[in-house]
Amino acid sequence: MVPHVNRRARYGIVALILVTVGFAALGQGFGTPSGFGPSAAAVGGDAQGRTVGGRDGFFVHDQLAKLVVLLGLSGAAIAVLLTHAFRWRRLLLAVSVIVLGFVLGGVLCPIAAVQNVILKAGTGYLLLFLIPVVLAVLFGRVFCGSVCPFGALQELVHVRRWALRIPPRIGRVLSVVRSLFLVALVARVAATGTSVLDGATPFKAFFEFGGTPVTVAVSALVLVLSIFTFRPFCRVACPLGAFLALVSRLRIFGVRGGAKCVSCKQCDRACAADAMCGGKSRPEECLLCGDCFAACPVGAISIVPPRR
Ligand code: SF4
Ligand code: SF4
Repeated sequence: MVPHVNRRARYGIVALILVTVGFAALGQGFGTPSGFGPSAAAVGGDAQGRTVGGRDGFFVHDQLAKLVVLLGLSGAAIAVLLTHAFRWRRLLLAVSVIVLGFVLGGVLCPIAAVQNVILKAGTGYLLLFLIPVVLAVLFGRVFCGSVCPFGALQELVHVRRWALRIPPRIGRVLSVVRSLFLVALVARVAATGTSVLDGATPFKAFFEFGGTPVTVAVSALVLVLSIFTFRPFCRVACPLGAFLALVSRLRIFGVRGGAKCVSCKQCDRACAADAMCGGKSRPEECLLCGDCFAACPVGAISIVPPRR
């Protein structure tokens, strides 16, 4: 059945087009190679890192390989979601940590991504960035929930029975921090044409088998915090997560309890992300993990278009 595309869905599609065009336009105006690796000049590229005259002028470095892997894992995440085969999601998280994390060095780096997409919109980086954005327009934060290796590692080390739950009201206040961080990073990169804090993302030091004592310490701290708190970096500090949370408010399909809902609030209690509220998920926090599906005693929860 082809779902009805309602007004909110149309807004989502328009927003996606505007985001794409906006980033592409910004990419023409900036394009500083800083923060994107030193090899652009080494491979004979222009100032934006493109290989002049080469067949791979749009895709530089290993962007094409990264795109293929990201598309593959995103496709698997959508398959898990649509078939409700959530028991496979942890395997997906493990594959993400190994492949996108340790093999590819941490793709997409959540602090660098919101900056690089402005600096490098004229390259294949734009497509890499658009994958989580398109997923967010369709379903919400599927990328965060099942694909991002930084989120995956936090969740894999988390121990539910030791979890210290942040009161929802405090959680909402803390999530403002990540939005402010996003605004600060975008404003800075727009003003200066350079990126910052690329290597400071938690776990980047692990994924790259390097880093400074400070970045290793930050990574270790977030790793330990993740054991006791569900995805602390995602919920408080991730600028890419903040951006996807904004886009997710326009999602076409969402997690919701239907007519069978008996208001038992089992789903609220099962949601480690504190995204479920009375049978309706909050799009900006829902990771489409499926825990509420499993917790619902009457099978009321499904993925549906938002009510008009
Ligand atoms: S919030 Fe950031 S780190 Fe967490 S899963 Fe999303 S993009 Fe990755
Ligand atoms: S348990 Fe929470 S995060 Fe997971 S799908 Fe349900 S509402 Fe979303």
